[in-house]
Amino acid sequence: MRSIIEDKNEKSCFVCGYAGKTEEHHIFGGNPNRRLSEKNGLKVHLCYMHHKDSKAGVHFNPELMEKLHKIGQRAFEESHTREEFMRIFGKNYLDDSEGEKPEEGFIWLNEDKEEPVI
Ligand SMILES: [Zn+2]
Ligand SMILES: [Zn+2]
Repeated sequence: MRSIIEDKNEKSCFVCGYAGKTEEHHIFGGNPNRRLSEKNGLKVHLCYMHHKDSKAGVHFNPELMEKLHKIGQRAFEESHTREEFMRIFGKNYLDDSEGEKPEEGFIWLNEDKEEPVI
């Protein structure tokens, strides 16, 4: 199945947008999750650096891995329930208490007001 996260024909790096040579990465790896990722279209294209580089690559960078897990689960839940996700992958990667927390390093400009400007 093609990716449900990327646009059709999208082949540039999901992290940095690099449009050269990229590789397909299955968001949930290992057995049997890799196969289940394939079946459910939970995959993205990554450049070598964001895929297998020993520092920045998702396979060596737990933070990036976690981020992709969340993106993958969110995409899946656009057309399925959380129960289905957990039945298939055996885990919930989305902690709703942190909900739509801004990216790390993001600073709310008007912290003291009721409605933050996004
Ligand atoms: Zn990249
Ligand atoms: Zn991979």
